[in-house]
Amino acid sequence: MSAPLIRMRGVSRTYGSPPTVALSHADLDVDRGEMLAIVGPSGSGKSTLLNLMGTLDRPSSGEIEIDGYDTGAMDDAELSGLRAHTIGFVFQQYHLAEGVTALDNVATGLLYAGVPKAERRARAAVALERVGLAARTRHRPNELSGGERQRVAIARAVVGEPALLLADEPTGALDTRSGEAIVSILAELNAAGTTVVVITHDPQVAERMPRRVGIRDGVLSSGTGGASSAASGVMAGARS
Ligand code: ADP
Repeated sequence: MSAPLIRMRGVSRTYGSPPTVALSHADLDVDRGEMLAIVGPSGSGKSTLLNLMGTLDRPSSGEIEIDGYDTGAMDDAELSGLRAHTIGFVFQQYHLAEGVTALDNVATGLLYAGVPKAERRARAAVALERVGLAARTRHRPNELSGGERQRVAIARAVVGEPALLLADEPTGALDTRSGEAIVSILAELNAAGTTVVVITHDPQVAERMPRRVGIRDGVLSSGTGGASSAASGVMAGARS
């Protein structure tokens, strides 16, 4: 069995002076092929954890390995290379470029991977098709619903086929039905092999994930996953 895609040991993150402990001694393994929710109330440390998993921030202490790389031993340029190849991000507020078509928004997801422009656009069209937006490639964000914008953001996150997709409250700005559609798309991407970590304060979203890890006051509680997360572990073993 290969190493976990994410391996965190004794990871803490404190801010400021006097220090606020946002994350305390976190141990977490995420296997390849898993899908899980990090669930906790506002201020519990979810974004801190996601930023650390995504190598956007460094821990105050502890070790984080991503895809077998010891991130503590890497400089910022190496970390941005690791992100470009391995990690896709989805945020609550989509973060799309406003005056730009859905196709070009998605194509920017390949900018840092050094893919030529024509190929970026061709692959962006495929990614938009995957999220059910083949008919919206020429639309700009202000011509799309919230759910459609989030689908564009997901297409941008996965156009480079990252091993890991990190989603920070991806349904937080959406009505229930659009939110459910987003969770379904994330589940489809997971079924096709992408490891998916979703941060949420919404128990209904967490409920749909095969594994859940709780967080409260910066402290993780072990995931309820059981049979389905074990099954995704087996799938991951079969793929690698
Ligand atoms: P969540 O995403 O669950 O809402 P956060 O990770 O954003 O929680 O925050 C966890 C704790 O760390 C909170 O008490 C928050 O105020 C604090 N915190 C987060 N980011 C910073 C920062 N940049 N500077 C100071 N305190 C921070």
